Amino acid sequence: MSDLTSEAAARDAADELRAKRAEFVLDDGTVYLDGNSLGALPRAVPARLADVVEREWGRLRIRSWDESAWWTAPERVGDRIGRLVGAAPGQVVAGDSTSVNVFKAVVAAVRCAADGRDEVLVDAATFPTDGYIAESAARMTGCRIRAVPAADLADAAGPRTAVVLVNHVDYRTGRLHDLPGTTAAVRAAGARVVWDLCHSAGALPVELDAHGVDFAVGCTYKYLNGGPGAPAFLYVRWDLQPRFDSPLPGWNSHADPFGMTAAYRPADGAVRGRVGTPEILSLLALDAALDVWDGVDLAAVRAKSLDLTDFFLRCVAAYAPGAVTPVTPAAHGERGSQVSLRTASGEGRGLMAELVRRGVVGDVRPPDILRFGFAPLYVGFADAERAARVLGEVVGA
Ligand SMILES: *Cc1c(COP(=O)(O)O)cnc(C)c1O
Repeated sequence: MSDLTSEAAARDAADELRAKRAEFVLDDGTVYLDGNSLGALPRAVPARLADVVEREWGRLRIRSWDESAWWTAPERVGDRIGRLVGAAPGQVVAGDSTSVNVFKAVVAAVRCAADGRDEVLVDAATFPTDGYIAESAARMTGCRIRAVPAADLADAAGPRTAVVLVNHVDYRTGRLHDLPGTTAAVRAAGARVVWDLCHSAGALPVELDAHGVDFAVGCTYKYLNGGPGAPAFLYVRWDLQPRFDSPLPGWNSHADPFGMTAAYRPADGAVRGRVGTPEILSLLALDAALDVWDGVDLAAVRAKSLDLTDFFLRCVAAYAPGAVTPVTPAAHGERGSQVSLRTASGEGRGLMAELVRRGVVGDVRPPDILRFGFAPLYVGFADAERAARVLGEVVGA
């Protein structure tokens, strides 16, 4: 055994989250490092989903809206996500996609901005959908949009700024942005901030309430393992809820949805973020998937994530010297839960295809970034060592 393999074995043996892996459907032949794109399947989900389909839908049919508590599932599941992102109950609702929730949050943020604020600032390296949606939201609300590097947003927010939309972790590089500092600066400038937590929810502690975040959105199919296309979430801080003027005021957000009145009257609280009939099958699959988080301390998740990514970087330096350059920051305070490597050859897709063929699953952001996501609930140190070793074999180092 090499030093790194024995170190990996020792670290796995000492890992307090080690038992969590058995709660997922995984096979020993594959190192799955793509949980930042699609989380692995929690074992409890298939049986729960079968029960939802066969009993709740099949036998109870329409009664399930009440008897199986389908109607209130968006808020109930929202509160479960809330615990994982530092939000007290009543502020998070689950539903729709992240893209749709970005739209709701940005337009609502502009609508509650003071007069004369007509500028939307967007993280220049944002995941594309956020930028596309923000551009449309700005156009619809008569604002102009400006792209600014995430690290400069705190300084860029000024008297004309209505809202700042920023990704907590850069999906490409894995860089973690300063949520407390940027939030404080944007609020001090009199503007609102919308954080996109797609790559931080379930990967590290996010303290939305503690840092006074205005709005947040995120998806649940990455580190939260909710399944393909699982409903996203929307956080609206409690004191902003009365002013939350949804651009998509569907009947599910009405104060009396079954009153079927012609006039719209918004519900109070997180419910106001709902739009139409909830996606019950995927919402309840997500509900079951969230059981793996019961009793899990996000601080332990973060500690393991940093240990894993540090260890992977050391293994890569040992096994594939010169073949790749990390673009993920070395500083812990600036790193999410993924490692992105730029290839020296400038080629990415062929390399990753070969890695996948050899049982190491990551993904590529073209042309030359290899991404490896470390989901601390089910990835171990032996996985990290093996992934780096296979990478070394593939690049012929
Ligand atoms: C994954 C991701 C999305 C995905 O949006 P969908 O509407 O679910 O397709 C959006 N924003 C960021 C930052 C992401 O990482």
